[in-house]
Amino acid sequence: MTNILWLQGGACSGDTMSFLNSENPTACDLITDFGFNLLWHPSLGLELGNNLQTLLWECFLGKTSVDILVFEGTVVNAPNNTGEWNRFAGRPMKDWVTDLSKVAKFIVAAGDCASWGGIPAIEPNPTQSKGLQFLKRQKGGFLGENFVSQGGLPVINIPGCPAHPDWISQILVAVATGRILDIALDELHRPKTFFSTFTQTGCTRNDHFAYKASTQKFGERTGCLFYDLGCRGPMTHSSCNRILWNHVSSKTRAGMPCLGCTEPEFPFYDLKPGTVFKTQTLLGAPKDLPTGANRQDYALMTVVAKNTAPDWVEEEFFTV
Ligand code: SF4
Ligand code: SF4
Repeated sequence: MTNILWLQGGACSGDTMSFLNSENPTACDLITDFGFNLLWHPSLGLELGNNLQTLLWECFLGKTSVDILVFEGTVVNAPNNTGEWNRFAGRPMKDWVTDLSKVAKFIVAAGDCASWGGIPAIEPNPTQSKGLQFLKRQKGGFLGENFVSQGGLPVINIPGCPAHPDWISQILVAVATGRILDIALDELHRPKTFFSTFTQTGCTRNDHFAYKASTQKFGERTGCLFYDLGCRGPMTHSSCNRILWNHVSSKTRAGMPCLGCTEPEFPFYDLKPGTVFKTQTLLGAPKDLPTGANRQDYALMTVVAKNTAPDWVEEEFFTV
């Protein structure tokens, strides 16, 4: 039996919605086949009011073990580091996070917000939001740089806006079975199983990328989305074209550029008054090169590739 507790801070519930659509395994499989016992979840938990407070205190006091604490959303610290803007079960949510992180065996951050602050933590960050162990790319976050849970791991980050449902359900199984100890985490605490390759891996437009054949419209069935629409597939670590969404498709297969949502810089702009809107992801030629490319060589290769492109790169291809 694996006791799992799921709490939500500054969040839109997107990761919950995503998780409930998991297929391999499904959220129900976790309970019926993998022995999960759901202590509480904001959309599925039964306890309310005093009963919920009692449950949470029993977790903290060790009367009920917490094998996995899943946190969705940011840790809200406003105003003035009190966390009063996000009260839950009688006290600031950040105080529950502080206490429960001391007793949970493993902690999983579901989505960008819990991983590193996501959209709420964009400057000027009025909710003083932080991720559990990162603030954007900077290590530390709410729990601090050196935090490790009772099970000996730092917070396991499953980023994405939202995170892919099967990334969440499969990592939960890996944690419950102890396999997580064999799965390496990268420098951003992302399990390498899902985040060591680029979104571009498996993209059906890779041949078009190679010949610099571009599309300028969303949804087109030909052309690469990098050159004119700013696809971030070559700079983003995710398995979206290996583990398809709904097991059917992906953004780039449907003709929508990758927005880089599994990286801490997503969504590539800040909201500070007076700041120039500086997204590089859509409707503007990308200023970034694919990760690892040398600018001079890349420019030379672009000319050669365009001049050698065969006719088929203009043809439509079938994609879903
Ligand atoms: S559409 Fe994006 S992910 Fe696909 S080949 Fe082009 S740049 Fe790469
Ligand atoms: S394709 Fe890119 S933006 Fe879309 S879910 Fe995957 S990583 Fe995020």
